[in-house]
Amino acid sequence: MTAASTVPSVDDVQKFHGHMCLGLALGYRVAIEGLAELGVARSEDEELVAVVENDSCAVDAIQVVLGCTFGKGNLVFRDWGRRVYTFYSRHRETGVRVSEHYNGFADDPEWAALRERAAAGDESPETREALATRTEAHIRAILNGPRDAVLTVSSVPFDPPAMAQIESSEPCEACGEPTMASRLVEHGGRRICRACVPAGG
Ligand SMILES: [Zn+2]
Ligand SMILES: [Zn+2]
Repeated sequence: MTAASTVPSVDDVQKFHGHMCLGLALGYRVAIEGLAELGVARSEDEELVAVVENDSCAVDAIQVVLGCTFGKGNLVFRDWGRRVYTFYSRHRETGVRVSEHYNGFADDPEWAALRERAAAGDESPETREALATRTEAHIRAILNGPRDAVLTVSSVPFDPPAMAQIESSEPCEACGEPTMASRLVEHGGRRICRACVPAGG
């Protein structure tokens, strides 16, 4: 991979996620503003770390744009249900907190009514098209509207979670599968994997 400085496009994140949606647009804006505030390029390795406080569609955009992924271990999920994202640059030793608060739907009762109609089973082309048009308008506002209308950015102390560890495996004494040593648990005098711990045990 050589294109380290190329920022992925909305199309790129849509390809990864599978569809375009409000959550993906929100995550894209959060990621772009976060990168800009950190003043760094996308993460080829583990120099960027993302701590995300929800597991919505938005997180897929963050993975693509920042290069912070589940597999690389530089995407950390805290199940706190907030629309808050904290990004750290290990190179610059800086951190930035992005809190997303897009509220355009509150000023758009028609959109809410259309959503309700669709949820109640109205599959007419009129409803579907009207909803798609209004949703697209929100996506445009999220992607291109004034930053303050979508999110708040603030700097935070450099305090990232620990780097991903590479660890040796030992066989589970029940199933025999090689298992990260730190994930084995003592059970009935044997060191076994969590999958082999009996329910309730
Ligand atoms: Zn989605
Ligand atoms: Zn096992």
